[in-house]
Amino acid sequence: MGPLSFLSRLFGGGASARSADGGVYIRVKCDACGEVIQARINPTSELSQLDEGGYYVRKVLVGRQCFRAIEVQLRYSDLGRTEISREVKGGTSVE
Ligand SMILES: [Zn+2]
Repeated sequence: MGPLSFLSRLFGGGASARSADGGVYIRVKCDACGEVIQARINPTSELSQLDEGGYYVRKVLVGRQCFRAIEVQLRYSDLGRTEISREVKGGTSVE
């Protein structure tokens, strides 16, 4: 039971991509068991600037059902969290 599981419970269900606290929420579905896992990204502390422009963050999510790691790589064009690409390994993007 890690911190991400805690967040999933806390914010689970119907959260939009952006929230009042400035966090960006993403949801992915585990390819192995179908569990939907939500993660929060804090743009001000977690995004890394890319040489070619834009921002990047990599998250590894682990669900509660099968404990497989799902790697998510996200790119944003600016700190306004405009998403330009999303890559999910081990899962499928839900929103
Ligand atoms: Zn799973």
